[in-house]
Amino acid sequence: MNDKVILVVLDGLNLKVAQDCLGYLNGLVEYKKATQYSLYSELPSLSRPLYECILTGVAPIESGIVHNNVTRRSLFESVFSLAQAQGKTTAAAAYHWVSELYNRSPYDPVRDRHTHNESLQIQHGVFYHWDHYPDEALILDGEYLRQEFDPDFLLVHSMNIDDTGHKFGLDSPEYRNSARHADIILSNFLPTWIEEGYQILITSDHGMNNDKSHGGTLIEEREVPLYLIGDRFSHLDVAIKQTELCGLVCEVLGLTHQKAFNEDALA
Ligand SMILES: [Zn+2]
Repeated sequence: MNDKVILVVLDGLNLKVAQDCLGYLNGLVEYKKATQYSLYSELPSLSRPLYECILTGVAPIESGIVHNNVTRRSLFESVFSLAQAQGKTTAAAAYHWVSELYNRSPYDPVRDRHTHNESLQIQHGVFYHWDHYPDEALILDGEYLRQEFDPDFLLVHSMNIDDTGHKFGLDSPEYRNSARHADIILSNFLPTWIEEGYQILITSDHGMNNDKSHGGTLIEEREVPLYLIGDRFSHLDVAIKQTELCGLVCEVLGLTHQKAFNEDALA
């Protein structure tokens, strides 16, 4: 057993598109190596508010991170802050807003793109600030951090699916193919992560609509997948809220925390 956690956030991935297009991940589900849940994004269904929600368990209305241009550090304990304070190693390959929320704001690419500083909440980071930064490069950044620094908690956060949705909309071959592409890239690395016993969560912040955007209450903007892999999860048919992901990760990491989580999701 391994209590290390890898959280993969595929930005802007709608639930139905995940179910239809992620052949490898859904293959894992068919072979009982993963369980797929669905969850509703908190509101507004926007990226930065929901990064904060996933990583702190605090909904946007409560966190104050209510739109994408709220450029400041989080005011709440996060998986990163709790893990770092309790002697764990933290790492992230993620969009630069994550660096702004938990490390330093505003983001300075010269200083922050490559981060190695044990005193920061995210101790090892490779951050990017291009929405079209290739998912393949991003996953390689995450794998580099994993192999080089052996983090207890690793966030891997890709942007191409969201970016493609903004260009072509939900019901487009381009959007669906970007999801298929992410699935293929993940299939290069997940077998090793599974073999090494990591506890793995794969989810999204929000979905996408046919207006090439998201932010509101449409089902296609709010419904996102959650795949759980690993022996610390119960794999039972339970309801999991987006605000409970942080607590779930904290529990698996063995952290002392006050975050909400669904106990039935754990083994
Ligand atoms: Zn977006």
